[in-house]
Amino acid sequence: MDTLQIELKGISKHFGNIHAVDDITLKIEKGSILSIVGPSGCGKTTLLRLIAGFESPDRGELQIGGSPIWSKDYSMPVQERNIGMIFQDGALFPHLNVKQNIGFAVSENVDSLLNLVGLVGKETSMPHELSGGEQQRVALARSLAANPSTLLLDEPFSNLDIQIRREIRTEVRSILKSYNVTAIFVTHDQQEASEMGDQIAIMKDGAIEQIGNPEEVYVNPQTEFTAKFFSQANLVDGTLQKKTLKTFISETDLSIDKNMNGNMKLVIHPNQLIIESVSDSKKMNGTVRNQIFQGNEYFYTIELENKEIVNVLQSNKQPIEPNTPVKITYTPGKSVICFQEGAQKQFKVNQ
Ligand code: ATP
Repeated sequence: MDTLQIELKGISKHFGNIHAVDDITLKIEKGSILSIVGPSGCGKTTLLRLIAGFESPDRGELQIGGSPIWSKDYSMPVQERNIGMIFQDGALFPHLNVKQNIGFAVSENVDSLLNLVGLVGKETSMPHELSGGEQQRVALARSLAANPSTLLLDEPFSNLDIQIRREIRTEVRSILKSYNVTAIFVTHDQQEASEMGDQIAIMKDGAIEQIGNPEEVYVNPQTEFTAKFFSQANLVDGTLQKKTLKTFISETDLSIDKNMNGNMKLVIHPNQLIIESVSDSKKMNGTVRNQIFQGNEYFYTIELENKEIVNVLQSNKQPIEPNTPVKITYTPGKSVICFQEGAQKQFKVNQ
């Protein structure tokens, strides 16, 4: 398979009794961007450091472009791996200007790189004179100057404010694509992971929970962790009995494609719930606890009467304010995903 750029086979690394990376097997195609997303401490940085060569695995095998870079009896030196790495803080040389930073190791192509990252006119600026976003562009240009086959980006935008983050990630993605560089992008922000990655790997406790394209992972989470962490889905207790699906939110008669019964955790995305404020307390089944404006929509935190918390995303002309009693409804879509005793199951609703 000559389109394969990065391959990890059973890679593990522990520090004392911490299994920072636990038996990871992974393939990344040439020119593709893999986002790795997971909570703090799940092993994302360690995985990048193993690929770059700053750490050695305990076992497994690493290949780049079909050639081994690490195995039980071989370790390719860091400088021969042709891998670029970009960190949170850009790590620019403070005493060198923009142009000197970009051309530090390789002085060809500096002008076209300056143009590519939109810094023409800032050639002589010093790093401290640049905004955080500009510093990260310089770091990107400096990495690309060495023409790496692979680029590893470790939370490169986490020090930037939210507006700039949105802009720069779209730009960086298109730059990486125009260079056809294979990249691994680490973040703990699921939205950033989705926007940057062709594929997404969800990491937990040193292992990969699920890998797939962003839409696949969002609509078809294989574990409760992925559903909650990546899709930010509500996991709501439900019971299916004689084709009636009962949840605390509603009771719905369904015709479904399977003979399924019993208790389950339903995966309900925040945009699958609807809230409306009610004045009649008999009609209420929840109370707004918090609302956050998110561009076109409001992200509501609702406390149900059984004290369960669910999130709702919907657009309102005026936000529904905290402490407002609401009626919350859920209409199952065509396809419902649930977990029974931890195992993912799906049923289709005949409409
Ligand atoms: P974050 O999102 O907070 O950066 P991460 O997912 O990148 O976290 P890692 O930095 O890879 O996580 O750490 C994984 C685990 O390994 C953590 O428990 C961490 O404390 C531990 N660890 C990492 N490096 C070392 C080290 N050099 N010595 C000992 N423990 C380490």
